[in-house]
Amino acid sequence: MSISPPVFLKESEENNSKLVETKPSQTTFVSSEDLLQNLCLASQEVLRKAQQSGRSKCLKCGGSRMFYCYTCYVPVENVPIEQIPHVKLPLKIDIIKHPNETDGKSTAVHAKLLAPEFVNIYTYPCIPEYEEKDHEVALVFPGPQSVSIKDISFHLQKRIQNNVRDKSDDPDKPSFKRKKTEEQQSCDLSDNKCKDTILKKIILIDSTWNQTNKILTDERLQGLLQVELKTRKTCFWRHQKGKPDTFLSTIEAIYYFLVDYHTDMLKEKYRGQYDNLLFFYSFMYQLIKNAKCSGDKETRKLIR
Ligand SMILES: [Zn+2]
Repeated sequence: MSISPPVFLKESEENNSKLVETKPSQTTFVSSEDLLQNLCLASQEVLRKAQQSGRSKCLKCGGSRMFYCYTCYVPVENVPIEQIPHVKLPLKIDIIKHPNETDGKSTAVHAKLLAPEFVNIYTYPCIPEYEEKDHEVALVFPGPQSVSIKDISFHLQKRIQNNVRDKSDDPDKPSFKRKKTEEQQSCDLSDNKCKDTILKKIILIDSTWNQTNKILTDERLQGLLQVELKTRKTCFWRHQKGKPDTFLSTIEAIYYFLVDYHTDMLKEKYRGQYDNLLFFYSFMYQLIKNAKCSGDKETRKLIR
């Protein structure tokens, strides 16, 4: 009997990792495989059932999909939206994807499905302008200038001060910019808590390594504060051959960023608030791992 494998098992290994590289650091090293065992997750029964019954219809475009539609960002007919968790995030997330990427391979969609009002996905080159917001936005990318999460507030604060100084040097600068930065500054002076919530949005690039570099050189992303993650081991099932396992899928990068943001910036104990962002990811990971272990030749061939 031939079993129809889920859509993500059919995809080839070639050029398909959505990766964010992290740099090694002296901070705690967590294997995400261990972590996936201990997540606070909503029941995945709905995914188990959907997986057994095979692909179903996207209620928006009618396409045949497994679990969710990667073009409409909605779950399919046999995965009722009420049965998937809804995650509240402490900030907004913009994900910029490369137009040449195959949508079905991206884990960025998971974020949009699970935290729809916090996440926006843009297809390059159609991306927002961030210039006026550069004091409350950070780009998650491990570049030479990248700072660690705990230093974000300090660096954004410096930008606010520089913006105010620039303004007094240059009377031609638009006044709304000045208004915004002054409001922000008075807020910071009067209330220390404001300092912790100074970051309003993070931007991630969802593409292969080569394409990421192309997007990075776009002038709209120049000059943004770049932030790097602590080292985390990926369990991304498609991680590129020859690449170190510190490359993360987009959903992993978002998750780890938020966990560290919660402890290092909000200074609160992390109690699994964002674990459900890995609702689809952990299920799909387990499925592929089981297929590997069971020695299912057909599946193994597909995921090799
Ligand atoms: Zn659709």
